[in-house]
Amino acid sequence: MTRVLKFIICSCVCGHKGRLDAQKMQSNLDEQPTLENVGAIYPRLKCSKCGAKKTEVWDDTGALLFDPSVNIGCQECGEPIILPRLSAQNGTSLCINCARLAEDELLNPSPPPPPPGKRTCPSCGSSTTTYTTRDGEHNFIGCARFPQCRWSSDF
Ligand SMILES: [Zn+2]
Ligand SMILES: [Zn+2]
Ligand SMILES: [Zn+2]
Repeated sequence: MTRVLKFIICSCVCGHKGRLDAQKMQSNLDEQPTLENVGAIYPRLKCSKCGAKKTEVWDDTGALLFDPSVNIGCQECGEPIILPRLSAQNGTSLCINCARLAEDELLNPSPPPPPPGKRTCPSCGSSTTTYTTRDGEHNFIGCARFPQCRWSSDF
């Protein structure tokens, strides 16, 4: 279950502390802030008093999420990784989202691209792409214009 953050507290070196609640944040976000997306939100937060961007951020349980002096960016997407994750997964270099994507990729590797000789559909001249059968067992090559063009071939 994804935990929605009811509010986060943003604190600046100038001494200003701001409580940003989900409702307020949502007016410029399309989704509720959660531990998964707060990394994407972080770069958009700035102190409403002095405008500084490097702020400390706590979640609604009082856990420190971001400390500008120790922020580490995800090596995939560059978003800062929340501190509870950094300490739980000692030395991780991926944010929650990227780690999850990498895991999905391991469980369901994406199929290989069509081989060089089969990258153009002989029926209509469009490019081809790799499809996987409904049971997930076999890959085959098909026209990228499917269902307009129904050409397909084995690898
Ligand atoms: Zn400030
Ligand atoms: Zn990432
Ligand atoms: Zn075709």
